[in-house]
Amino acid sequence: MSNSAKQRFSAKSCVWIGSFVYLTVLMLSAPMAFTADKPIRVIAFGAHPDDCDQGAGGLATKYAEHGDKVKFVSLTNGDAGHQSEHGEELANRRRAEAQEAGRRIGIEYEVLDNHDGKLLPTLDVREQVIREIRQWKADIVIAPRPNDYHPDHRYTGVLVQDASYMVIVPNLVPDTPPLPRNPIFLYYSDRFTRPQPFRPDIVISIDAVFDKKINMMDAHVSQFYEWLPWTEGKLEQVPKDPAARKKWLAASTRGERELQPGWRQALRKRYGAQAQHIQHAEAFEITEYGRQPSEQEIREMFPFFPGMAISSH
Ligand SMILES: [Zn+2]
Repeated sequence: MSNSAKQRFSAKSCVWIGSFVYLTVLMLSAPMAFTADKPIRVIAFGAHPDDCDQGAGGLATKYAEHGDKVKFVSLTNGDAGHQSEHGEELANRRRAEAQEAGRRIGIEYEVLDNHDGKLLPTLDVREQVIREIRQWKADIVIAPRPNDYHPDHRYTGVLVQDASYMVIVPNLVPDTPPLPRNPIFLYYSDRFTRPQPFRPDIVISIDAVFDKKINMMDAHVSQFYEWLPWTEGKLEQVPKDPAARKKWLAASTRGERELQPGWRQALRKRYGAQAQHIQHAEAFEITEYGRQPSEQEIREMFPFFPGMAISSH
């Protein structure tokens, strides 16, 4: 090797060693730090294809617009939710509606093949939930609270609770690698008061995406324009024209959901003076079972509050 070749070699070695040391220091100094370049990964569970949309359709739209990854999962196929259709045909229709809803806001939507109205918190379904959370590499998991009028909703809450610790346990569901750290688990808002009322820990303004949320819900034709109005004796009120019925949906209590008393206070905490102008919001409660985020982590994981630099991926 000539002298100049030796010099080139040692210069290259220095760059190599330098890079190695730099990367090692970087990895050791911030092994768990959340970086702004990494998309936030969110998975939301509902009992039926349309449940996630109502509870978190606005939040999902905001994440999707921000470059983050969202998946909605319906634990049942919805094959009981109609007054005149049923079985596989209805399940296929609802799966197609869910996929269209997901497409409209840029998220994934999966409908599992458990029967509607018959969901139970079995080990089999718990393992389905564990796999979903692990495969999505979720940072945030959203589910209903386990007290609800509908048994499918209630057991969806129980199933996700039962999965919340197990997602990091390697010996369980060994076919799917465990998560390296526990996600943050959230509940959708609800109005049930026993044994305790919903607590609005994180309230997000969805004013900027309200129309997109309604457009997403509009994809569930069998539900918002057929089945649910039928159960309420309001089928006659649904306009026939697609544009008119979408407007009707936006003005209904399913679209235009009232802000609850405690939500304003939560909005003021993170939106300051802007809070008084907020018309539409979605609220979430942090469960006791997953990772407990600090205020700083909340602001990193929900990069929608004013006063924070909003990164783009
Ligand atoms: Zn439901």
